[in-house]
Amino acid sequence: MAEFPTCEQMAKNVAEKALDEFLYHGKSIREWMKIIVDQEPKTGHWMHDGSHWKNRFICSECGYKLFDEPTNYCPYCGTRMESKDKE
Ligand SMILES: [Zn+2]
Repeated sequence: MAEFPTCEQMAKNVAEKALDEFLYHGKSIREWMKIIVDQEPKTGHWMHDGSHWKNRFICSECGYKLFDEPTNYCPYCGTRMESKDKE
C-alpha cells in the first residue's frame, strides 16, 4: 500500500518547490530572498561624541554626526540603530 505524506509534508514540499520555480521579474523567489536579506540594513549604534552637549551622537557605521534625539536609523547611511538596552 502506498504511503501518503502528511498534509504538512506536502505543504512543505510545495513551498520548497515554489521558492525555486516561481519566477518574479525573471528571478526565483529564493534568489529574491537572498537579495533582500543582503540588502537589509546593517545594525549599529549611536555613540555620544563626548562633548558636554546631551544630544550629540556619532553613527558607529559612517561617522555621521547627529545633533538631535537619537533616531532608530542613521539618516545618512541607513544603519538601523540597536537600542541602548542591547549593548
Ligand atoms: Zn550612519
